[in-house]
Amino acid sequence: MSLSEDQRERYKSQLSLPGMSEARQEKLLSSSIVLLGLDPCGTNCAVNLAQAGIGKIILVDQDLVVESDLSKHSVFTSEDINYPKVDILKRKLTTLNPDIQVRNCFFKFDTHNADHLLGEGELVVEGLESWQDKLVASDSCMQRKKALIHSGLLSFSFHVFSMIPGRSACLRCVFARLGLEDFPPDGFKQSVLGAIASLAGAFQAAEAIKLITQIGTISGNHLLRFDVLRSEFDDMTELIGRSDCPDCGRWG
Ligand SMILES: [Zn+2]
Repeated sequence: MSLSEDQRERYKSQLSLPGMSEARQEKLLSSSIVLLGLDPCGTNCAVNLAQAGIGKIILVDQDLVVESDLSKHSVFTSEDINYPKVDILKRKLTTLNPDIQVRNCFFKFDTHNADHLLGEGELVVEGLESWQDKLVASDSCMQRKKALIHSGLLSFSFHVFSMIPGRSACLRCVFARLGLEDFPPDGFKQSVLGAIASLAGAFQAAEAIKLITQIGTISGNHLLRFDVLRSEFDDMTELIGRSDCPDCGRWG
């Protein structure tokens, strides 16, 4: 597979980036990503993945667009209300980039469909609203040795963590190190500023692109945390899994 003239023109800006090449663009175009959950980070991430030319994106989400989504998601409009997010987003992504395939799965990710879904992508990005569901995604990806790119929003801050089985702690161990054993209470999801969710989703997309093209470094045990109100950035390192963790312990 080589790039067509139209594709060289479409991806001209990113092809001229240091380290980027036509071969790496072809890798993006032949890659597949499973996107679990379309929270505001997830939808923004999907747009960035489509722009970059990720060849196949599998969208998994069970929700309809509601009025309150319009202030949090950059892709939905009032005309989309009451339609499944996966259907609307599929249409928008394939219009944005006809090079790519998008599959819309209008159901909730859980342990029963994990095998089938995760088998379809070379890596997984999660935009799940529930922190319990994020842990289910972590367990499923660890068991199947799939990289998982996680983001978490907490008020005016967010963090992004690329979990690479064999090199990273699982989310259960990372959350414990962050003091997140007690998950944010129900309702925290309402406290989302669209601009911050967009940042987190864009960061996840950039991490996915780095993993697929092998540009730059992803150490596997760093968590990047941004406090937007304080304008502070933390790079938390040495996120080692607990020795008694069934997922992390087995890699040791
Ligand atoms: Zn662990």
